[in-house]
Amino acid sequence: MQQPTTRYQSHPAGVPLSTPLPQTASAPTTTSKELVHPSIDDSFYFRALEKEGIHLNGPQIQAVRHGQGPLLTLAGAGCGKTTVLAARTGYLIAVRGVPASQILLVTFTSKAASEIKERIARIPCITPGAVRAVQARTFHSFGLALLRQSGRQEQILSDYSTRHTIMKILLRRLKAGETYQPETLLAALSSWKMSGEWPSDLPSNTAEEMKIKNILLAYEEWKQGRNQWDFDDILLHTSELLNDPHRLTKLQSRFTYMMVDEFQDTNTVQYDMVQKLSAGHRNLMVVGDDDQTIYSFNGARQESILDFDKVYPDATIIALPINYRSDSRILGLGTALITHNEFRRPKQLVAAGAIGLPPHYASPANVEEEAAFVADHLEEQVRLGKVTYSDIAILHRTAGSSRAMLEQLLLRGIPFIQYGNNTVFYDQSLIKTLMDHLRLSLNPRCKEAYQSTLGPLYIPREDGMSYLVEQENKQPKKYPLIHLSRWDRLKPFQQDAVKERIRLIKKLASLKPKYAIQEMRRLFYDKYLEAGDPLLHTQYKETMTDSLDELESAATQFDTVDQFIAHADELTLRHQQMEAIRDGGAGDAVQLLTIHRAKGMEFLHVYWIGASEGILPHSTALKEQVTQEMKITHPQKTDSKLAKAALEEERRLAYVAVTRAKERLYITSPLHFHGKSAEPSRFLLEAFGILKIK
Ligand code: ATP
Ligand code: MG
Repeated sequence: MQQPTTRYQSHPAGVPLSTPLPQTASAPTTTSKELVHPSIDDSFYFRALEKEGIHLNGPQIQAVRHGQGPLLTLAGAGCGKTTVLAARTGYLIAVRGVPASQILLVTFTSKAASEIKERIARIPCITPGAVRAVQARTFHSFGLALLRQSGRQEQILSDYSTRHTIMKILLRRLKAGETYQPETLLAALSSWKMSGEWPSDLPSNTAEEMKIKNILLAYEEWKQGRNQWDFDDILLHTSELLNDPHRLTKLQSRFTYMMVDEFQDTNTVQYDMVQKLSAGHRNLMVVGDDDQTIYSFNGARQESILDFDKVYPDATIIALPINYRSDSRILGLGTALITHNEFRRPKQLVAAGAIGLPPHYASPANVEEEAAFVADHLEEQVRLGKVTYSDIAILHRTAGSSRAMLEQLLLRGIPFIQYGNNTVFYDQSLIKTLMDHLRLSLNPRCKEAYQSTLGPLYIPREDGMSYLVEQENKQPKKYPLIHLSRWDRLKPFQQDAVKERIRLIKKLASLKPKYAIQEMRRLFYDKYLEAGDPLLHTQYKETMTDSLDELESAATQFDTVDQFIAHADELTLRHQQMEAIRDGGAGDAVQLLTIHRAKGMEFLHVYWIGASEGILPHSTALKEQVTQEMKITHPQKTDSKLAKAALEEERRLAYVAVTRAKERLYITSPLHFHGKSAEPSRFLLEAFGILKIK
């Protein structure tokens, strides 16, 4: 499967080997040891940090010592922003005597919130009680706690696919299913709400606006009727709660110091919460990196960080230019790559991090080969004792782009943790339906697979299953589905469709798996998905097509349906075994995660997979035509501005990926993706000075 020619090289494919490697200068090494004289009152604190191996540099010390008033700490990736937040929290408690419970730290994920607490706990002069008392929260958890205290009891509707399904049903009910995509409307609604507006104030000046408003209000009513809130509702209601002056004053005196990590990703409502909570005392410290805004299409306002000093003209601004995370050549690639974005504050980073190796690049033929190549390589590294599994992260762009990698890890029994997605690709409902048809082609009496055939035949699942089982008990058939063709509840054309489907299923077993999937898509599945099945876990249309293309690509590896199904079943089994082991603790495991999830994290060795055009930058950001979602969520921007913004966001994602690595960064760019040829990501070539002419 794997071509012997694939190997890591010093340059991406297409870049002449004579091109110099991007590299940043080395940093000066003056630290708190020299900068904080023992005679200074607070020197005990810095000595304590040094004992823990934290030797802060000049600007970091300035930020840690910052007392009152607004402070913006702006820095590139890995320059110690989160470190400074934790150290300043400790400083406020240990040196300035601020009660820990008066400090509110807001982060983006609950993992980040617990990590920052761990970092504070490592600072020696802070008691465990004080660490517990510090409020380290996400915007959502902080808001929800306040809302619960105020007596709100709404249930939280967190599952995206449920919301998507509800919207789909409403669209059909309002006869608008032909005109709008549910995901587009959900994105538009979220964007509206996260700009601080209530759904009832949606514009209704034109017939089109009226129509959209009606649908969105129907969705809101559906939730209200069931006493439910989505994530956006939590924030919007929190912001409203903070309009109550009495409550706000109490909170402002409860939390006299506020700090926000990853400030570049705050949306309008979150920013509004921050401003209100800190309005009285103005002891607001925000840290962030405009180059790491990776949620702008979900409402993050990069302007919040870029314009902070306009909103707070008296703000102290501290830049942290020294990166402690990465090898200078890894950082060099990151900085060379991100300078191609126009909408940013320029920065000059220098490296003081570990000495590792320059980034390595390889171009495997396709994602299967890439996965095998990466797995070989990392197994070898572990065997040679260079790293343990837990030092390694594999980063990918979209949830779907890790399918081949996941299979390799499972088949080789490499322990891994995958965040966010806990099923094997073939067991996801969208894919499982087709796999079950293939299973039936091999074994028509495979009971577990019957149910998947009902949806695409437009037969109600529960009733259909009970009828099938009941008939089968009475009179077993070689092809049990045939019972359905005699069910008097079905119209004659549906009964015919059942017979037709059985004929197709019989035929599938003799086809090559790839063609079998294509046949099913052509004959019924694409049309069925287009019409939408409220019971199927729905996904974005784009990702749905992506997943089905991925299935076809996966199937090309196999000659027979039998082999393909055996492979999928083996993966499911191994996955279950892996999960069972993992329940006893993660242990020494590779981390497989999307770049979005890797934000703020760091790893000794990073494998960035899928560094090809169409994957990163993602195909949606490369289209001439911007997507309907982008338009609806950013109505004020022209198409060309949106297309540019989308590409800049992809470039920031690439920057985030590169800057997660400490010592080693391995980048692979598959040459084929979903049956089409793909060039190495333009972001890599640009970093070496090769500009793609569009
Ligand atoms: P990101 O942009 O990815 O969120 P960051 O700016 O928050 O990164 P940190 O995670 O705080 O950066 O720090 C990156 C690494 O550098 C960490 O391993 C941290 O311990 C280390 N570090 C930070 N400051 C120093 C310092 N003064 N001396 C030595 N190591 C440091
Ligand atoms: Mg950070």
